[in-house]
Amino acid sequence: MRSVAAFMAEGVVRLVDEEGPGALPLARGHVLLRPLEVGVCGTDREIAAFAYGSAPPGKDRLVLGHEAVAEVARTGEGVERVRPGDLVVPMVRRPCDRVECPACRAGRQDFCTTGEFIERGICRADGFMAELVVDEERYLVHVPPAACELGALVEPLSITAKAFAQRDAMLTRLPWDHDGTRGLVLGAGPIGVLTAMGLVARGARTVVYSREPEDDDRAELVRGIGADYVSSGSTDVPGLVRRAGRFDVIIEAVGVPEFAFKTVRALAPNGVFIVTGLPAPRPAIDFDAAGLMRDLVLHNQVIVGTVNAGRASYEEAVRMLERFLILFPDSVRRVIQRRVALDEAPALLRQPGGGVKTVIHIAEAGAATRDERLPTPGRAAARSDRGG
Ligand code: BGC
Repeated sequence: MRSVAAFMAEGVVRLVDEEGPGALPLARGHVLLRPLEVGVCGTDREIAAFAYGSAPPGKDRLVLGHEAVAEVARTGEGVERVRPGDLVVPMVRRPCDRVECPACRAGRQDFCTTGEFIERGICRADGFMAELVVDEERYLVHVPPAACELGALVEPLSITAKAFAQRDAMLTRLPWDHDGTRGLVLGAGPIGVLTAMGLVARGARTVVYSREPEDDDRAELVRGIGADYVSSGSTDVPGLVRRAGRFDVIIEAVGVPEFAFKTVRALAPNGVFIVTGLPAPRPAIDFDAAGLMRDLVLHNQVIVGTVNAGRASYEEAVRMLERFLILFPDSVRRVIQRRVALDEAPALLRQPGGGVKTVIHIAEAGAATRDERLPTPGRAAARSDRGG
């Protein structure tokens, strides 16, 4: 079985070919999955540059990949919600085991308070860039066959769905209707474009503000969904406000602090600024902290950070994807700009992403139900008896 792993001590990422879990019996509640496609994001590239991430305990290598869509190949005892042939997206984060973590104990490890959570393909657990993987049924989210071709977008969209949920929670403090929301998205990368689609689908007047020029392909993609595009290369923040007004919600999806903090000035009174980008560690920057604090206080503004997502946001992400396929079928298909084979992944992970979504294509759907090569647990046990 082939997989793509980062070897921590050696500092290399390479394709591994070794015996996989296909022949092993499954523990209760566990499921054998055949990943079909796995998206590559900035986090994967940081792990491949050995600037982030960690291997599972006792191992010196980490199998990459956390934006997966997979097919159920076989189920263990006690599995009730999924069957062989089902299409699923595995959730990324798993709870810490500390009793004092209220978030993990409540099944909301995306709000883990100890930092001891596990993330598949990122920290302390192998990911999904492999021909076969095992997961627990409770972390799997169903994807309808019609959305399978874009299933690798569900995990990044779950980040958007959780950001929307944070904003909705904040609206309860304002006791009036919120029709006519004006939304600004910072960045025209995959999460930025998906977030703009989400805002448009919710009826918000939406602008994407990003560094690419206004005749760039991404600007055209954004205009194609009915949003406006403003280039930060030619229009500064006061110019953006003159052109489009202030925004009730700003969702940041770039991870560049200078860009994020200067754009807070475009927030309307009572507005919410949601930060999703993760900058690499770097020296402090100079910015007008007094101006920011005055605006926050005088205008009841909120800045909120959000990471990862709980089950409800994954399920919402699947519904959003289905909606996008109806509202803007061509545009949403253009978010995935490239598909490459598993053996091309190590080289791809070393290249800069350039804000374009590439997915690793591993297998076609539909193999699980007709695949005779997967040994049954009985046969697997017999084989390991002989081997031992
Ligand atoms: C992933 C999240 C994860 C975060 C921090 C992101 O790339 O999408 O699921 O929580 O990295 O590790």
